[in-house]
Amino acid sequence: MAGKPVIGVLALQGCVDRHQPHIEAAGGVFRAVKTAEEINSVDAFILPGGESTTMLKLIDVFGLWDVLAKNFAAKPVWGICAGSILMADKVWVDEAKTKTQKSFGLIPVEIVRNGYGRQRDSHIGKVDGYDVSFIRAPVVTGIADTVEVLAQEGDVPVWLRYGKNHLTSFHAELNLDAPSPMHRLFVESVLDGTQKQRA
Ligand code: GLN
Repeated sequence: MAGKPVIGVLALQGCVDRHQPHIEAAGGVFRAVKTAEEINSVDAFILPGGESTTMLKLIDVFGLWDVLAKNFAAKPVWGICAGSILMADKVWVDEAKTKTQKSFGLIPVEIVRNGYGRQRDSHIGKVDGYDVSFIRAPVVTGIADTVEVLAQEGDVPVWLRYGKNHLTSFHAELNLDAPSPMHRLFVESVLDGTQKQRA
């Protein structure tokens, strides 16, 4: 990586462009990625918020599962809301925990989709004094001891770190005050990781 880290935002579906000002203000380069070639060319990934079932469908239709899994094993990944659902080890589709959904298993947490309820239960929350948006968000219902909790809302962990990977059940990119603390930490940790690898 020469200079600034290139952060690829997976651009199959969901909230992609709003990450650009945050990534740039945090010292990174924004790139929307959707082909294998683009995916292979970036230093780290943001899996954006949107609709995880649609994203899974498009990953399948475009045959991107293997190239994504290979890249995710080697590079930092930050999953946001639907993106966090794609990352989790275990995903429950319903609160009764009867049905699971396929995921990349990049962080040892258990998550329940739409766990806060319906669209009208979406809300703005404060994390580190910064306004973030929970939009039909998942609820993290279990985490391994090895996962670091960076923030909770009540008893529920909402911002997590596991080695190179980050997870937020909320959107940070909708706040116009850039960079968000989450983008700043992610871009910094991508830089740190690279420097450590080089050393
Ligand atoms: N409810 C969506 C899902 O299950 C996530 C919503 C979001 O990303 N804002 O995929």
